[in-house]
Amino acid sequence: MKSKVYIETFGCQMNVADTERAATGLRKAGYELTATADSADVVLLNTCSVRERAERKVFRRIGEVRNRARKAGQEKPLIGVMGCVAQLEGSSIFANAPAVDLIIGTRATDRIQSLIERARGGEASVIDLDERQEGELWDVSPAERRSPYVAFVPIIEGCNKFCSFCIVPYSRGREKSRSAVEIVAEVERLRALGYKEVHLIGQNVNSYRPKSTEGLDRYAGATPFARLLRAVADTGMERIKFTTSFPRDFHPDIVSALEEHPNLCDWIHLPVQSGSDRMLKAMRRGHTADDYLRRVDAIRNSKRRLSLTSDVIVGFPGESEEDFEQTMRLVRSCEYDGLYIFKYSKRAGTPAAALANVIPESEKTARFMALESLQDSMQEKVYGNYVGRTVSVLVEKESARSKEDMTGHSTCHKVVNFGARQTQPGEIVEVLISQAKPYSLYGELVN
Ligand code: SF4
Repeated sequence: MKSKVYIETFGCQMNVADTERAATGLRKAGYELTATADSADVVLLNTCSVRERAERKVFRRIGEVRNRARKAGQEKPLIGVMGCVAQLEGSSIFANAPAVDLIIGTRATDRIQSLIERARGGEASVIDLDERQEGELWDVSPAERRSPYVAFVPIIEGCNKFCSFCIVPYSRGREKSRSAVEIVAEVERLRALGYKEVHLIGQNVNSYRPKSTEGLDRYAGATPFARLLRAVADTGMERIKFTTSFPRDFHPDIVSALEEHPNLCDWIHLPVQSGSDRMLKAMRRGHTADDYLRRVDAIRNSKRRLSLTSDVIVGFPGESEEDFEQTMRLVRSCEYDGLYIFKYSKRAGTPAAALANVIPESEKTARFMALESLQDSMQEKVYGNYVGRTVSVLVEKESARSKEDMTGHSTCHKVVNFGARQTQPGEIVEVLISQAKPYSLYGELVN
């Protein structure tokens, strides 16, 4: 009988993509993938370490898996920890959670099968925190993808930026770009399989720098990423999104590429984190507020209306009232389509964790609420401007609120609900917007 593996995924799109890749390899090696931990012989937790809370959740989950098996009188499944917590904590996980049998680092995805075999063969405490090896390719079977219409395509792994609050460069290692030939071939394959949308993903997609320009020679561009965008657009894939972009590496030629190719979607996610130069320096972001605003000008002056979203951290150590006011001013001037606001939380192992002048929790909350209320009022205007306009929507599923409605995302990455029972998931439809809600749009099918 085939051994059953269950993979539970926490965290970001990169983890989702890693799970898809791991599942592809496991299935090829003869494993069956199951939808619940209860029936599995092997339980793999693909973990996130961005926040300490997320990390604690993993240890709770390990206990739950072990206890459920014990209560049911079953043998404990093999338990493996993969992803960022595995890479960061390494063998100390064995000491803190003795139920764990396997530790699989962020670059060991393609070697999971052999690691499981070693554990099944009786080897205790199997661990692999090594780099990816020559010849390991990003190979994901359509059967393992979360959606049959939207696919994540990683183009770069890791991060070299070392922002002072962030653990990612330590958990995901240095930036490593996939070859353009491989990326374009994957998008072509996805298109042939009927996928309608790809998301080019990476911690910083616009820092894309492959070892060779093979596959990009026919495409002009000021940076390898701008050339890659043109190459991927040329595959004819209907909708292409990309996230996340790093401000310092955001060249205006990206905007030009979006103007030339309508299938490059009209949405840019460009995290700023703060509007204060003093805070940006303490965060080691490598850009000032003015540098950032110059990028925003290029986006706003585009011939296309480009949707812009961002991330902000409030309550970073030492953030004064004036620093926070500068963030409020920047947010007012950027008129974001969406903003992810985070209260700073100390992450052990990062330089910011040692900083003094910690902001009290109550003050962080007050700043969070002030910024949220500002963004809500700005967003009401931005969303209101869509009323009377027609947007193109990739239909995803029935709306959770009403069986009469379907839901999907626009090219500008807004949630759009619309009345139309006759449409099917995977279709691209035109929707005339009649109502703007705080975080979504509502409309009717055009034809
Ligand atoms: S750019 Fe900064 S915030 Fe983003 S992953 Fe890298 S270190 Fe973290």
